[in-house]
Formats: sequence, structure tokens, C-alpha cells
Amino acid sequence: MKVIDISWPVSSAMTSYKQDEAAWMEIVKSFVKDGMRESMLHIGTHSGTHVDAPCHFLRDGKTIDELDLSTVYGAAIVVDCTTFADSITEKALVDAKIKKGDIVLLKTTNSLNGPNDSFNIRFVSLHLSGAKYLADAGAKAVGFDYLSIEKPVDDHVAHRELFENGVTIIEGLRLNDVKPGRYTFACFPLNLVAVEAAPARAVLIEE
Ligand SMILES: [Zn+2]
Repeated sequence: MKVIDISWPVSSAMTSYKQDEAAWMEIVKSFVKDGMRESMLHIGTHSGTHVDAPCHFLRDGKTIDELDLSTVYGAAIVVDCTTFADSITEKALVDAKIKKGDIVLLKTTNSLNGPNDSFNIRFVSLHLSGAKYLADAGAKAVGFDYLSIEKPVDDHVAHRELFENGVTIIEGLRLNDVKPGRYTFACFPLNLVAVEAAPARAVLIEE
């Protein structure tokens, strides 16, 4: 069995969405002074690899502690979308052989951005037609390789489409070294109470 880490390395240097500071570490105890190490982590709920809960955009949607964790574990397919330069439409997905209940991970050219690069506003996004196709195909979760599936100017229509159909959204995956194909996926968000998202560690498991 091989476990492939596809999560974004967390540090004060990591790419932040829209220039906010994504994370920083405070040294509470240092080995030189205290004979041990202890740190305090300050991190945004949408920093690096994270899971969005429906209440991010739906008024009465579930919060991250209420999320059904069976949607972020199980059979997954990594779909090669690297030939699409602007947005992932239905056309990019029709031949992907997505099965009902799959976790669908979209590998785009976003994965070429380094984890500490400055924010790329021209990132590839998920088009509403792509989101609709994934919801209709019965995907239980969609994983994306940038810090958001869509630009703020898109009015978050793809987020809403997925949440309204019970599809969980995972953002900030690192898929550059991953071959398209079938895997087992696991990605569990921190159990933050009454919050709209949480950082997570995401892996693919190859049997
Ligand atoms: Zn998010």
C-alpha cells in the first residue's frame, strides 16, 4: 500500500488567497530556552488544503462539525483536466467515467503553481456547467487543486450548485505528481464547532 500526500505544505510562506496571511506559527517554547518545543498555530479556515461546509454559502447549510465524514473518504478518481486553460466545463468531464458516489479530483494546470508562489488570480476555475455535471453524475465530493474552485467574480455559483446537491467541496489539493486514475481518498477536516470550513490533511491510497 502506498500513501500519497496531496496536501498543501502549511507555513508562513504559503500562498494566501487574496493576500491575507494564510498561516503563521508562534514559538511558545524553544529548545534552547525551555528544553522542549511547543508552538501555537494561527491559520485561516480556508488556508491550504481545506474542506468547505455548506454553510459557507447556504444560509441554513451544515457547519464543518456537522459534515458527513463519509463524503470525504472512499473511492476517488483523479481526472486529467490539464488541457483546459480557463475553466472546467461539462465538456472537460463527459469522458471521465465518473461513477455515482465517486470523489472526483480535478487535476488542472493550477497544480503547476508552487505552494509558496504568490496568489495566481488567473487560476483555472470550475465552471457552473462542470459543477452541474458533477452533481448530476452523483459525485459525493469534488476536490480541486487551487485555493478556491472559482473566482469571487463568478458569484460562487459553482459552490452553491454543489452544496445544494449535497456535494462536499475540498480545495487546495496538490496534484502535480499524481497520475490520473482511481485511488482511495481520505481527507478529514478539523472538528471546528459551528464554522464554515477547516484545514485538513488529504491523501490518496494506492493498493
Ligand atoms: Zn474554501
